[in-house]
Amino acid sequence: MTSIEKTMKFEIKHHDAAGRIGRLITDHGSITTPVLLPVINPNKMSITPQMMKERFGVQAVITNSYIIYQHQKLHDKALAEGVHALIDFDGPIMTDSGTFQSYMYGEIEMDPLTIVRFQRDIGTDIGTILDIFSTPDQTKEEAEEAVDTTIERAEISIPEKKEMNLACPVQGSVYPSLRTYCAKKLGNLDADMHPIGGVVPLMENQEYKDLIEVILASKKGLPVNRPVHLFGAGHPLIFPLAAALGCDIFDSSAYIKYAKQNRMIFPWGTEKIDDLYELPCSCPVCSTSSLSELKSLSKKKREQKIAEHNLYVSMSELRKVRNAIMQGRLWELVEQRASANPFLQDAIHELHKLNHVKWLEQFEPVRKTRGLFYTGIHTVHQPFFYRLHHRLVQWFDQSSSTLIVLPETEKPFSKAYADDIYKISMEYPNTDIIVDTVIGPVPLVLDEMYPFAQYIFPEVLDEETKRIRKKRWDKCVKHKDLIEWGKKPIVTDLTNEEGNIIQKNLDEKRVKSVAHMQFGSDISSVLFNGDISLVKSKKTLKIRNVFVDGKHVVSMRASDGLFTLKLDGGKKIHDKSSIPRFRVTIEDDAVPFVKEGKSVFSKFVSSVDDQLRPYDECIVVSKDDEFLAIGQCLLSPVEMSGFQFGQAVKIREHIGVN
Ligand SMILES: [Zn+2]
Repeated sequence: MTSIEKTMKFEIKHHDAAGRIGRLITDHGSITTPVLLPVINPNKMSITPQMMKERFGVQAVITNSYIIYQHQKLHDKALAEGVHALIDFDGPIMTDSGTFQSYMYGEIEMDPLTIVRFQRDIGTDIGTILDIFSTPDQTKEEAEEAVDTTIERAEISIPEKKEMNLACPVQGSVYPSLRTYCAKKLGNLDADMHPIGGVVPLMENQEYKDLIEVILASKKGLPVNRPVHLFGAGHPLIFPLAAALGCDIFDSSAYIKYAKQNRMIFPWGTEKIDDLYELPCSCPVCSTSSLSELKSLSKKKREQKIAEHNLYVSMSELRKVRNAIMQGRLWELVEQRASANPFLQDAIHELHKLNHVKWLEQFEPVRKTRGLFYTGIHTVHQPFFYRLHHRLVQWFDQSSSTLIVLPETEKPFSKAYADDIYKISMEYPNTDIIVDTVIGPVPLVLDEMYPFAQYIFPEVLDEETKRIRKKRWDKCVKHKDLIEWGKKPIVTDLTNEEGNIIQKNLDEKRVKSVAHMQFGSDISSVLFNGDISLVKSKKTLKIRNVFVDGKHVVSMRASDGLFTLKLDGGKKIHDKSSIPRFRVTIEDDAVPFVKEGKSVFSKFVSSVDDQLRPYDECIVVSKDDEFLAIGQCLLSPVEMSGFQFGQAVKIREHIGVN
């Protein structure tokens, strides 16, 4: 790895699924990812790049350096005035190198170093090496050869890049182990970005199952801090899923290619204009002309209009993807889009595999600002639910031998069942109460914690959700005696002394149980070791602040029932736990800044507890384990360690400089 200055600046701003809102900085401006780069043919620009920027919100474009190199006029102008002047665009420009041409039209005559130097000399922001396109029908031996040559070419090309950013594509056909191998090898080189190459045939044939295996195998091998480009992915149908798996960049020649075939792109697929009865779209093209008007245009004008529609729709889908990441709804969007396409449905099914879920889970935020919405048979398989049930099984206290089971009712359950809870607690002291819900068993004391008060599922369940519900029940509930509590009218005096004691016990149990689920049982037991007292909201009666031996250790957020750590709580955890648990450890240079309350930047992170997740609470320590601050993780542990730019931990409270 060379100096930071030579690496392309890329940072993560927000997270959902393994998808990310990133900021990519080039000499011609910054790009917010996930992003679509429309393909510009320098010989024929039906929509000019400048128009794309002004009318379509295009942030950056991609053009082909091989075509520019081959045409004398373009070649000379690009060398004399630069590629930005050549296509009249002042934003970031990426170029590819002829690899796809060699796949389409057979071997091309081009020296791999010449084309890299040419891209550098015409001032491209992101150039691409001349890699070898490996097709899905190759034998493993053929694919290995393509991978070896690609790695060799990356090695000799990188010293030529100078100030240019260089993209080195991952090849390896449909062989996951080969993809991961290639990704790791390229990841060790000083490349700036990694396209996943050779996937166009998979997308053309709707082989999305193979496509996601290829994406995941490549992602698993690549350094987490480099932007990943799904090369040739230009159909909006695939954007949400590919973004959820961590693809940051897409490129589209589809908008123009399909227009030439009279085909219109929609988020759910592609339609020939002859098969349409109306224009089912509200883009500027479709809202100002009718289908018959579109059909009656000359071939050239019609192509132009359809290309514009296709680009509007594609750009709009990327905005939906970015919006879904910000709202924590990316899986929802993925499932909605997949419901329109059986091949995508099968692809998402692959994500249920344990090794994929485990990989995805590490990037999944611990809380979202919106409820968890059911969108179909895949919802219960989302990494968030996997984590939830894993933690319930691993961390949740099941020390009592009997269990009272209540049927699902209005949320929060403890409010709806207030009368029953007192009656149960008097009849069966020390017994746990669990609610049998559509998402599996929910301990009553966790009913205000995200997402147990925020999931929204339909009353009628599909068979897959029912199957998983039963499976999770069997795994979580190990008690010997289950007592099903019928809903009977009960009259209880809630204000008497006995009632107060019951409430106090329940509150303490709630505090410890939420901490078990949120922080882990080890952290929960050190944090609440002592005399617990609570401050509750007079209005809602919800727990607000928790004190242990008179010290304020955590507060409970009303919005999602999760704890925020206080400085005294952080100190307690630090005193009673050992390295690296619950810690983000930082380099000495950053210690004075963090003591003053400044955020922790990724490049100063020295190590991280690998059990932490995005938006988890954490403590920040120096390399000698001096306690400095408490805060909130913004990234997953691999990202905090891997990124050189951007924030890793937002500090909430700090010890101060003295
Ligand atoms: Zn339209």
